[in-house]
Amino acid sequence: MNCRICGGDLEPRVTDLPFKIAEFSIVILKALPVLQCTQCGDTELEHATMQRVDQLLAGVDSQAELEVIRYAA
Ligand SMILES: [Zn+2]
Repeated sequence: MNCRICGGDLEPRVTDLPFKIAEFSIVILKALPVLQCTQCGDTELEHATMQRVDQLLAGVDSQAELEVIRYAA
């Protein structure tokens, strides 16, 4: 799998990423496994990870302006 932006190599990393779920709501997922491009630094999520993220975000109270969740596979 290569970077969709520059075609560079992707390497697995664990990082924290913010997700905007509503106009004033941001969720930060901690210790999220991602693929990061070694050339441009863009991050991509594997399909299975993205599905899990969707599940986690669906369970968040969107009234909260900021929520921090630890990702667990
Ligand atoms: Zn790239």
